[in-house]
Amino acid sequence: MTKFTLYYPITNFYFSQRFGQNLNPLYKKLKMEGHNGDDLACVSGVNTRSAQEGWVKYCGWAGDAGWRIDIMSNDTFEYKGKQVYFSTVYMHNLPDFPVKVGQKVKTGDIIAHAGSTGASTGPHCHISLIPYEKIGNVYTKLEPDNGYSGCIDPAPYWTGKTAYEVAGLYAKIQELQNKVALYFKK
Ligand SMILES: [Zn+2]
Repeated sequence: MTKFTLYYPITNFYFSQRFGQNLNPLYKKLKMEGHNGDDLACVSGVNTRSAQEGWVKYCGWAGDAGWRIDIMSNDTFEYKGKQVYFSTVYMHNLPDFPVKVGQKVKTGDIIAHAGSTGASTGPHCHISLIPYEKIGNVYTKLEPDNGYSGCIDPAPYWTGKTAYEVAGLYAKIQELQNKVALYFKK
């Protein structure tokens, strides 16, 4: 069984706030115990790449979250003895999304551009990780009442590598596949 992993969606960043920290009274207002994701501080307009493989579950305006995009895993992974789908949620983006709802994405594909939309004090990518159960065709948050609106700490899942590095690898594989295809055409 493959372990679920995450790759940093931004290439040049620093963590300005981690999961569980509560530096903002906004979370109390939202009835949360603290920050429900990791904040990657960056320059406005930089590429936000998918931290995982999956498909675009949501893409649009979401109030305090600003312009938000959600990626849902294609496969299930083990979490607390259950088989779950993992969704990554990227907040405060610019509105110019290069992908559409329903579109499949690979790790490292550009899915958004980082901004400071919604309740945000500076350009950054907020990423939340949410385990989902699928009953029939409906995805339901596994732990909606966990104090973080169903989000869990992404810390154990970060590989320490950027999604950009993974994209580079995919690009090389694609190039090789094209070469092979061309070879057999001759
Ligand atoms: Zn945040």
